[in-house]
Amino acid sequence: MNYQNYFREVTPYVPGEQPREKNIIKLNTNENPYPPSPHVASALREIGGANTRKYPDPAATLLVDALAKRYGVKSSQIFVGVGSDDVLGMCFLTFFNSDRPILFPEVTYSFYPVWAGLFRVPYRAVPLREGFRVDPQDYIAENGGIVIANPNAPTGIALSVSEVETIVANNPDSVVIIDEAYVDFGAVSCQCLLDKYENLVIVQTFSKSRSMAGMRIGFCMAAEPLIAALQSVKYSYNSYTMNEASILAGKAALEDEAYFSDTCARIMQTREWTREELKKLSFSSTNSSANFLFVTHSRVPAKDIFEQLRQRKIYVRYFAQPHIDNYLRITIGTREEMQALLAALKDIVGER
Ligand SMILES: *Cc1c(COP(=O)(O)O)cnc(C)c1O
Repeated sequence: MNYQNYFREVTPYVPGEQPREKNIIKLNTNENPYPPSPHVASALREIGGANTRKYPDPAATLLVDALAKRYGVKSSQIFVGVGSDDVLGMCFLTFFNSDRPILFPEVTYSFYPVWAGLFRVPYRAVPLREGFRVDPQDYIAENGGIVIANPNAPTGIALSVSEVETIVANNPDSVVIIDEAYVDFGAVSCQCLLDKYENLVIVQTFSKSRSMAGMRIGFCMAAEPLIAALQSVKYSYNSYTMNEASILAGKAALEDEAYFSDTCARIMQTREWTREELKKLSFSSTNSSANFLFVTHSRVPAKDIFEQLRQRKIYVRYFAQPHIDNYLRITIGTREEMQALLAALKDIVGER
């Protein structure tokens, strides 16, 4: 009865709540408040029994080619997966096989230490500087790889392209992964560095800026040898990762650039408006380039605010973790949702 000794020991990632109740305001997992482009619904209507009978194209060629066209790279420089979590997991498995620790910021996407644990990759979490700043100089140190979310999560703070370049240029013997899950909300993509550096991987997702979290589409761009290495690992594990519906829906989304830029612009406007309104209620926030704000109140503890919002069926994210346990991460919803949030907050922080 010792078989349990041979189970893989892991500490799983804890995703944000997905409450089933109706009439809630859900600002806790950075989903887009707007529906995807109407092109997506049309593409999904085309999915009948006929195209689900067969296995999907293991290379997801239709989607890969559409991405190559949209981002101006070769199809051989693109790898797609079931959400960027799948792509990031594959990147860890493929590129992080050194005895030296990989590096990532101490405050960042909490999946990074989870994959490191799952794949037995040694890591060192690098402390942030004053004001949650990532200092590129801290990543010029011995390492077996680097992963940085840019903009960072949950702070929303972005590094400039030249700051990222400092990290990539000083680590020619390591793969540097830049996780750009939130880049479309006002930061600058480091895609422009791909021609210059063959050790760089740019990861993006359709979950946030393209309103398609439910379809699970992520991708990365890199030099051809890195993409080939990722494909070898993927085909050693599961050839058919992306289903037919996601391939077609993803392609359709890429064909509606106007809708994409319009919804991103709306979210950025709502973010800046919300930031100003929160200031009036004595909240301060980081300079977020993402579709969320990372805020703290001058008097009322974040945990109390979180719980009181929850009672009012407004869900935001609270992290009971060192350095950030007096902060809330608030996803930018529609203007109406943010108005309801502000009314509730006014009540909560005014009560004392
Ligand atoms: C949301 C998120 C992801 C993963 O999103 P997918 O839905 O798996 O594409 C990856 N990195 C960061 C920093 C995120 O916030």
